[in-house]
Amino acid sequence: MNRKSVLILGGTAEASALARAIPPRFGDAWFVTTSLAGRTASPGPVVGCVRRGGFGGSAGLLRYLAENRVDCVIDATHPFAARISAAARVACERARVPRLLLLRSSWRRDPRDRWIEVDDMASAALLVGRLSRRAFLTVGAKEAAAFAPARHVHFLLRLIEPPRQPLPFASCEIVLGRGPFTLAGERRLIERYRLDLLVSKASGGSATEAKILAAREEGLPVVMIRRPPPEPGPTVETIEEALLWLEDPLTAVEERSMR
Ligand code: NAP
Repeated sequence: MNRKSVLILGGTAEASALARAIPPRFGDAWFVTTSLAGRTASPGPVVGCVRRGGFGGSAGLLRYLAENRVDCVIDATHPFAARISAAARVACERARVPRLLLLRSSWRRDPRDRWIEVDDMASAALLVGRLSRRAFLTVGAKEAAAFAPARHVHFLLRLIEPPRQPLPFASCEIVLGRGPFTLAGERRLIERYRLDLLVSKASGGSATEAKILAAREEGLPVVMIRRPPPEPGPTVETIEEALLWLEDPLTAVEERSMR
């Protein structure tokens, strides 16, 4: 059988779910490789072949696609992982390899929500300094340092793993956890740590939505960092739609480009 090769750009729950869903749907028809940036020392389990580490920009990814005879790419990275998504678009265009963006849906704003939407971490940090004494910071280790100038704020940081370097905060505590989180658990955190504000990326998806629902119930303001604009091209929101696209990615790409 002529096995085709799909590269999933991962690091998300959706990417792992997709890698898990392909063999039962397609048998051996697709050879599945998931690519991880290698940020976390112990990533969650991934079905199929896994490679780790950067490619070296779009040129490196282009080389990888050719050397590994990749037939199509599904970019299932996080909505805020803008650089790898841009590199994937450029490399796939140059290699003429079909690419699908699997982009989880955004959270819907409810009338009870007290969101303050901003475009970047620096603006979010300014607001937190003005509005909060005890903030729940859920933006990840890489971006957390932007909030260090808010010296009078006590931060509760949620991270997947303990930080590799000391954190630059005047006052902070860390809770470790990997989604999905429950509404009851998020409510408990808000009460136990007496949190008065939540900082979140507008990541969307169900795994981390409970904190948004808990903030709504507790009347907490949420400083919400808007998503960067997604890369253009064929885009779906669900695993099922991605599986449908995989039935014939070449046809799917041609059909979409004719619309
Ligand atoms: P990014 O800013 O778009 O990427 C930075 C660099 O990391 C890329 O240029 C690439 O290096 C490498 N990289 C990123 N994702 C990769 C992947 N899946 N496979 C191989 N190399 C990858 O991304 P990021 O925001 O640092 O996120 C890194 C990873 O964590 C992504 O896989 C993303 O899905 C996941 N993640 C991110 C967030 C978030 O909030 N940003 C949250 C949860 C999970 P080269 O240029 O050397 O190729």
